[in-house]
Amino acid sequence: MSALCVVDGVPATMGNLCSACVTTLHAKVLEVPRLLHELDVTITKQARQTSSAGGAGNERPLVLNLAASDVAREIEVALRTLAHLGAAEREPVPVAISALAPWTASHLVHAVRRPEIAGAYAALLAALERGWRSVDRAPERRVVGTCDCGGVLATARTTGEVRCPACGVLWDVGEREEARNEMLLGLTVCTADLVVLFRTVLRRRITAATVRKWVERRQLRPVSVEPMMFRATDAVQTWRRLHADETDQKTGEADVSV
Ligand SMILES: [Zn+2]
Ligand SMILES: [Zn+2]
Repeated sequence: MSALCVVDGVPATMGNLCSACVTTLHAKVLEVPRLLHELDVTITKQARQTSSAGGAGNERPLVLNLAASDVAREIEVALRTLAHLGAAEREPVPVAISALAPWTASHLVHAVRRPEIAGAYAALLAALERGWRSVDRAPERRVVGTCDCGGVLATARTTGEVRCPACGVLWDVGEREEARNEMLLGLTVCTADLVVLFRTVLRRRITAATVRKWVERRQLRPVSVEPMMFRATDAVQTWRRLHADETDQKTGEADVSV
């Protein structure tokens, strides 16, 4: 047992830690289940976004936010390490994270007496910090395409470069996104996939009703009727034609008023 806290060097009051650091550690341990839940939500949400975008074609299933799942594992390992420091010899440690966190918190009194506490403390705090960052940042990250090696390229950036997480090759974000969009727009898709394509590739919101209307008005010709399938490029042309008309009218009006 040190006389000084192994974290910040002030007089230790409980094992190798001062009161402030014990309090911090206690709070951080109890924070783990909440953060893991947030990471889980992030991972699920991104997987769903990706599978709906990829569902339109033969793009391999894109597993997103590797960062979030990596850091979740890291946090769990850090918590387990701390739990084992607090466990007596042969004392069973809970398996479920929801039970593990409160159990570890109530066993800190033993864990802080172990010399390994300094490393365990630092590892848990660092993992939690990274975890919260992944939660915050995750919604902005999007898939911009795939690497030649099959790796999924995901980034929050709209320009610049993105590194393949699998092989490390750098790609231009805009170029990869364009290649991905080109591939997606070359597909023949059903109405539901067309709606998704418009949202992900063109960032335009159309509905199944919009598509039905286009067909009824003969503005869009399906390539097959049973099931109803469309060439994505045809739909884009239809949309651009209709949209260009609107824009021209608006411009015309604006010109008149000037
Ligand atoms: Zn301290
Ligand atoms: Zn790669």
